[in-house]
Amino acid sequence: MQTRRSFLASGVVAGLSAGSLSKSLSAVQPRGKAGFPCVLATWKNRKAVEAAWEVLQMGGSALDAVEAGARVPEADPDDSSVGYGGLPDREGKVTLDACIMDSQGNAGSVVFLEGIKHAVSVARRVMEHTPHVILAGEGALQFAIQQGFKQEELLTPSAREAWERWKVESRYQPVINQERHDTIGILAIDRDGVVAGACSTSGLAFKMRGRVGDSPIVGAGLYVDGEVGAATATGLGEAVLKKMGAFSIVEMMRQGMGPQKACLEAVRRLLSVRAAEAFQVGYVAVDRRGRTGACSLRPGFQASRMWTSGFELQDAPSLLSR
Ligand code: ASP
Repeated sequence: MQTRRSFLASGVVAGLSAGSLSKSLSAVQPRGKAGFPCVLATWKNRKAVEAAWEVLQMGGSALDAVEAGARVPEADPDDSSVGYGGLPDREGKVTLDACIMDSQGNAGSVVFLEGIKHAVSVARRVMEHTPHVILAGEGALQFAIQQGFKQEELLTPSAREAWERWKVESRYQPVINQERHDTIGILAIDRDGVVAGACSTSGLAFKMRGRVGDSPIVGAGLYVDGEVGAATATGLGEAVLKKMGAFSIVEMMRQGMGPQKACLEAVRRLLSVRAAEAFQVGYVAVDRRGRTGACSLRPGFQASRMWTSGFELQDAPSLLSR
């Protein structure tokens, strides 16, 4: 079996030579002047960033924008990693994690939420209507119902079929591949320069029951600081949690690093996580000037961005070549 050491020694680390790395990084620098308003999201999430952009164009807040954006994949039955249509845990239950933060550091999140499609909106209610930051499981569900959210079955027929197929082998390890890493992390800066962020996910497909990932954990899957900027993550939550990915990126930006370099450094830190050769993580970040960054451990990660010059889907540079 290949160990992390032999893997690294085999030259699979692509980005470590300064030349090739800076070349690939330049591919994700803004093509025009950085600025705001802007919206930045993980993966190919055009409809989500357009929904968020529309809110900003109507004079809405960054917070309203990121919530509106995250609600798009939450409602999409064809998105198998977020909300309705998300792939279930090993017991066949869809459990959702979501988080939202505003520019003043207020945060709300829900973990292990079942039966409510718009987890991000429940997270916002936690932030705005409770003295707490995180509500979990049954308590989160009760709170959502009290708040008027509709309880419904989130397991779609195709997600059920995928689970039935998975059960044939029932491999204990979570299935990790890039196609199933579609968590939406979405960041926005409104016309007044106010930053906000949100993320929402059904987590890893066929995870152990009760497993919570990085997405709803403030500082891991999402972090916003109005004086600095914001960052969000997708990929293997366990790795992001161990490195407090989003918080690290914001702190590096606070120390003066640009968003692109900060994302790269956060990805580089993942190399010390056990089994780094077998997972994917991607980060996106924006600073308060509207400069953006995106970087992943392995190739295949994309970032969606919307700003005055229109929509852009960017292939993020990766630290490893495969
Ligand atoms: N980060 C998510 C989690 O670990 C999964 C993903 O991005 O697909 O729950």
